[in-house]
Amino acid sequence: MAAARLGYRCHIYAPEPDSVAAEVCAAFTNAGWRDRKALGAFAAACDVVTYEFENVPVEPLAAIPQDRLAPGTRALEVAQDRVREKGFVEELGGRPAPYAAVDHEGDLTAAIDRIGTPGILKTRRDGYDGKGQWLIASAGEAQGIKIPDSGSVYEGRVRFECEFSVILVRDHDGEVRFWDAPLNTHQGGILSHSELPAPAIVREQVERARALAQKVAEALGYVGVMTCEFFATTDGPVFNEMAPRVHNSGHWTIEGAITSQFENHIRAIAGLPLGDTASVAERVVMDNLIGAEAFDMARHLSDPAAHLHLYGKAEARDGRKMGHITRVG
Ligand code: AMP
Repeated sequence: MAAARLGYRCHIYAPEPDSVAAEVCAAFTNAGWRDRKALGAFAAACDVVTYEFENVPVEPLAAIPQDRLAPGTRALEVAQDRVREKGFVEELGGRPAPYAAVDHEGDLTAAIDRIGTPGILKTRRDGYDGKGQWLIASAGEAQGIKIPDSGSVYEGRVRFECEFSVILVRDHDGEVRFWDAPLNTHQGGILSHSELPAPAIVREQVERARALAQKVAEALGYVGVMTCEFFATTDGPVFNEMAPRVHNSGHWTIEGAITSQFENHIRAIAGLPLGDTASVAERVVMDNLIGAEAFDMARHLSDPAAHLHLYGKAEARDGRKMGHITRVG
């Protein structure tokens, strides 16, 4: 919709026949992520190709001319593998939670011995919104846990004061702009609330977090919007994960910033000048609508200041993000 506002016609590529993005776009290719023929034909019909899902298999993307794809495939390769992502960030001077790769069942005990408990076992690949994660409170709980073929990672649980995210946009010339960093609250591993202004501890740590996020973007030759999530601890910012795309913790920018993350993503990949990322009010809050509560539209709209967004997903499963509400000022 941000692209359409700039006069572009969007062509959606998705494996789901009922893609909600396709409903509001000009063209739709319904084909699998590994269908190179369909990917090639799709790319031939597009001037520029982008993605907003980090688990798109990388190899078949070779069917798309790489100078037309932004962000590039390196960002996907790094973001798709939690172990690789943490190693990449460490090399740039960032600090993730203590972690160990767990590729086989036997590795878990060694990882717990080294890192201690409590910790969180996460699948290396394909995890999101707290899916594929298990809290391990004591070493005994490791017994009998199956490790998937693609491996897992064991992380020490970080004792954080709060969580925040750095959302940036980088253009083809390497210019980088940041939005205000929101305080993020999660429930059951799912983002439930983002708000500005963030508390003092975040404001004290945001410059260090931004510097790291910018290094990540530069090292990847990144073009578009990228998000890095952080834990604010009494010992400084701890990197959690990156998302090579517009991010849920930046949805407030639609009404809460001069230029939204969506519009600046389109501007960056289309080679246009970036828009101002400044917030339009000191206070902005965004609440996610998760599961069936989203459909209680009369209640959500009983606050006349609420900006309600529903994503058009027909089925409201528990834990599924269905929409969000933003309030500005
Ligand atoms: P993730 O999908 O890895 O971002 O995890 C989702 C949420 O789970 C995070 O935003 C945190 O609230 C929590 N979480 C994940 N990893 C850790 C950790 N190592 N220590 C403490 N909390 C964590």
